[in-house]
Amino acid sequence: MRFARSFGASLRDLTSGRRVALFADRAGLDAAEVVRASPLIRARSRTVELHGEVLQLGDWSLRSRRRCPICVQTDADDAGQIGIPAEWWATSRSWWDIRSIDVCPEHHVRMIDRCASCGSLHDWKSGLLVCRCGATNGPRVCIEGDPAFSRYVLGRLSLCHPTLVPVLDGMALDEAVRTAELLGASRLPWSPVKPKRTYADEVTDRLQGLRLALDWPAGLLKSLDELVAGYDLRPAQGLIAAYGWVYSEMCMGDVSQATSGLVAGVVREHAVRSGIIARDEDRLGGDVPETMTAKTAAKCLGYGYERTRRTLEQAGAIPTGSRRGVAFALDPSAVGRLSRREQSVPPSALLSIGRTQARKLLRDEGLRAAIRPDAGDQASALVGIISSLAMPGDRQANVPLSAACRNMSVPLAAACRGIIEGNVRVRLKGSEAGLRAVLVRQADLAPLRKPRDRMTVEAIARQSGLHHDAVRSLVRCGAFGEAERGQVAATAVRRFLDEHVTAAELSRDRNTSSTAIRRTLEKMGVVPAFGPPECRQLIYRRCDLPTIH
Ligand SMILES: [Zn+2]
Ligand SMILES: [Zn+2]
Repeated sequence: MRFARSFGASLRDLTSGRRVALFADRAGLDAAEVVRASPLIRARSRTVELHGEVLQLGDWSLRSRRRCPICVQTDADDAGQIGIPAEWWATSRSWWDIRSIDVCPEHHVRMIDRCASCGSLHDWKSGLLVCRCGATNGPRVCIEGDPAFSRYVLGRLSLCHPTLVPVLDGMALDEAVRTAELLGASRLPWSPVKPKRTYADEVTDRLQGLRLALDWPAGLLKSLDELVAGYDLRPAQGLIAAYGWVYSEMCMGDVSQATSGLVAGVVREHAVRSGIIARDEDRLGGDVPETMTAKTAAKCLGYGYERTRRTLEQAGAIPTGSRRGVAFALDPSAVGRLSRREQSVPPSALLSIGRTQARKLLRDEGLRAAIRPDAGDQASALVGIISSLAMPGDRQANVPLSAACRNMSVPLAAACRGIIEGNVRVRLKGSEAGLRAVLVRQADLAPLRKPRDRMTVEAIARQSGLHHDAVRSLVRCGAFGEAERGQVAATAVRRFLDEHVTAAELSRDRNTSSTAIRRTLEKMGVVPAFGPPECRQLIYRRCDLPTIH
């Protein structure tokens, strides 16, 4: 910290990656190289950039000061050889803060962030060598571990010889870490939802996941064999009954497209080979098509379940081999075509919003421009355009569109325009239909807020500190320009407040009474711009006031 302060930066600056260039300059290092090696935190996307790779903020933490006990000891020993104090030489490595690195690749021991003697968390105020309790954190606290996954991450960051894992190497590093965790958890017994994992579980999952990824796809196929072992005994049939969360969450759920794209093909192949689905049941394509349940289709069409099923059957939209009473996946474009054919469906049902709002939405100029005039049904076309922009893995898009519009006071049409223009990021919720299925990143709506250009008397009074009655009389005499339904332009209000000052304010500044101010100014020939009887407060034009030196 003292070092950071010595060149005008705080410890926070250093640890968050700001002023790195300055730091490098002072230390006589190549600025570009240090910037590359320093974590750069992007709070908006909740990611950290390190060595040209992107990590989730959750995978990188300064909450505690992690270290490899042997690296620290080695530093101290080296210092002894050079003949300088050990605390000058013992330094943190940039990768010690990456949580998915659990084992030092050099010493094969687990990273630690607690004092072995008093149990307190090491923080950035205490040194690396000695805990605040006085205990030294030497090699005696080492626990051995498998460095394979740490090596993989460090290889990606160009900090050690790379481990080649073709199926993970094409993904962003954060996706690769997450994918390994999920793959590793697929070895667990069948469960409809992903079992809760602790930090220690995740360490094991990542190692197991890496092994599966290195033995692709044989490793996963073997895991899947074990998963479907009890399939015949389960009451329901189908892919969820066979694979549980490995299918519902990893192939269809909120995981990144990279993960689902990798896993879905293997699960499909396995399901066909094990006789769980027929080869022509195209539910799990290589790139996982967005699907829809019959219940959602019913909502879309505005029918009851039975009529929906009949309509779908007549149109041949039900996948062959799907059994009655078992959830089956539909192609949303087929349902869309069907609903367009069923003339009776009102736009509000297609959009899943109120009738007035649907009418307003379809009358919006900007949206009409985005929908091709030959698109036929405008409501379906709009839902289609928005759905096509969805990013399946975007977990941060988690607020329903209508709720986000309400929360941020943005009209629905403006939000839809924002989505189409690519300024609002979206994801689809499979269990809903129309615009109800659209989840957005709420923060993306902030720039779409209509600027508040009209102000009411109350708003002006609140902002200026003037009395209501005074504001009302100022509005009446046109001090803020033309009033429309009792409201005036905010710019005019701002200009007025910049150019005027009340006697009350002047008296406060000068520690005297309003009456004294008025009398003094009167003597100097300055009259108020507004005052009794029309306006109950004395208001002066700033330019009329004498300059006080
Ligand atoms: Zn080490
Ligand atoms: Zn301690």
